[in-house]
Amino acid sequence: MSRVRTRIAPSPTGDPHVGTAYIALFNRCFAHQNNGDFVLRVEDTDQARSTKKSENDILNSLQWLGLTWDEGPASEGNCGPYRQSERSQIYSKHIQLLLGKGKAFHCFCSEERLSSLRNEQITNKTQIGYDGHCLDMSNDEVQRRLALNERFVIRMKVPEHGDCVFNDMLRGEIRIAWSQVDMQVLIKSDGLPTYHFANVVDDHLMEISHVIRGEEWINSVPKHILLYQYFGWVPPIFCHMPLLRNADKSKLSKRKNPTSIGYYKDMGYLPEALVNYLGLMGWSLPSGEEKFSPKEMITEFDINRVSLGGPIFDIEKLNWLNGKYLREELSDVDFLKKFGDWLSRDEKITAIVPLLKERVDKFSDVVDLGGFFIAADLTLTADDFSNSKLDPAVILRVLQFSLWRLESLKKWSHDEIQSHFQLMANQLGIKIRDFLSPLFVAITGRAVSLSVIESITILDINIVRMRLRTAIELLGGVSKKKQKLLEKEYKSLN
Ligand code: GLU
Repeated sequence: MSRVRTRIAPSPTGDPHVGTAYIALFNRCFAHQNNGDFVLRVEDTDQARSTKKSENDILNSLQWLGLTWDEGPASEGNCGPYRQSERSQIYSKHIQLLLGKGKAFHCFCSEERLSSLRNEQITNKTQIGYDGHCLDMSNDEVQRRLALNERFVIRMKVPEHGDCVFNDMLRGEIRIAWSQVDMQVLIKSDGLPTYHFANVVDDHLMEISHVIRGEEWINSVPKHILLYQYFGWVPPIFCHMPLLRNADKSKLSKRKNPTSIGYYKDMGYLPEALVNYLGLMGWSLPSGEEKFSPKEMITEFDINRVSLGGPIFDIEKLNWLNGKYLREELSDVDFLKKFGDWLSRDEKITAIVPLLKERVDKFSDVVDLGGFFIAADLTLTADDFSNSKLDPAVILRVLQFSLWRLESLKKWSHDEIQSHFQLMANQLGIKIRDFLSPLFVAITGRAVSLSVIESITILDINIVRMRLRTAIELLGGVSKKKQKLLEKEYKSLN
């Protein structure tokens, strides 16, 4: 068998997700168990959504968890560059190959045509997808339109009949009818490749032997297999892992569970405990022992024992495991050292100190005044909100609308947050002081405290989201029906 090479291919479009770490762990474990390589590739072809910050955060988080890669950005191997934005020429060359073989075609359809086609398909309840309008365009016509600089995309051809049959390491044979497969855009009108095209070209050129990824990609496999066939390449072995789930079995989402690795770092979890916990998702040691190191996992791992029932990401269980690590793995001296390191971690503490210095007279005041920066839970009760001048229904709006607004912010800064809060206070017809009052309680645990806007800026969205949600629950929560009404009202504010 050729050398085992696996990869994780994150798109840097948001916070580093625990799901990425989970998939990285299994890929790394499988590669190292087989004396192979684990590659990291940054899939940043979506220029509108990819950011350098997200890329740095993802890479740093994986490193914090010890999920280091053998090849990737900053540890170049023979298959670089490992960022898709630096591989444009490779994709241009490869799309020419497909065009030359007649396996891909130029499509000049306008947005309007495509959207009315889609609407028609929705109305007629027929299969959604491209109808092949430009499929048989003559070469002369294509050249004429290209010379006129018309906007185009390049799509792949797809067989009309039959099924795509492939094997998944965990699921066995999977069959998907070609009629279900769209003539996927491979090159967008900005000249950049789509995920499908870049992913296949790179997996091949990076000599990936096993594609181990989340089950949400199963339906993409026919497109990928077809591309391998068109190029005349041997496809890798596919393995689709079960998705992490919320307690109610829905796909793990930040609305119900913190999903950002940064949140777990901020809350003072040990990276080794979090990695161990992710290793328990869908898999366990044959002995049933739940505490194990990545090394032990590598020795014992058997990919065929991954169970397909959606693993539930349960924070209570993670807490239990993390506590076990604290007690069993750290001497008192280590505990103190790690606690100190966590407390004084640069990113946070440099932002908090100037705020605290303004208000304290002695160090011991810090605990009382700034404790909310490090606490996991503020142990509030509904009563804590009773000094607000606003009535309960308005308090609920302030909390919920603030959460939605904060979640939508592109720029996370004091001034940005302040101007949005001011705007919403005006829109709700209340004074900014009154608007901020329930936020003080929800975020800092007190009616009077350090600047709540500064505090929100420092705490970041993941912790703020948890606190606002806890406060909303304390005040009676928002039923699905009420949520709909509030959403409507919130939208009408803008
Ligand atoms: N860039 C894709 C993602 O963000 C990678 C999917 C895959 O592993 O093929 O999940």
